[in-house]
Amino acid sequence: MATANPNTCPHCGSSNSGANFGFNPQPINDDETLIRDVLFACVDCGGQWAAFGFVMIAQRNGGEPSKEAQEALAEAASAAEDLRIEPLDQDGNPI
Ligand SMILES: [Zn+2]
Repeated sequence: MATANPNTCPHCGSSNSGANFGFNPQPINDDETLIRDVLFACVDCGGQWAAFGFVMIAQRNGGEPSKEAQEALAEAASAAEDLRIEPLDQDGNPI
């Protein structure tokens, strides 16, 4: 398993970040979507980066993921490539 933390900003080291976009969305149900290869943005420096191989559940309503979503996440995580963090410039291009 990769040990890199996709929530840590590669530009300034802050963990004050949020996922703002994911590729290859796969709907699980009406409220939950599995996303792979997530784009993050840093609240502190405004930097952006992509976490390839990272899978997460995007929820419309927040709260705990459903059992269905957790199972889908576990399955996708085990099949995912190794986590790779790629810093992006302000235009969203690889540096
Ligand atoms: Zn930052």
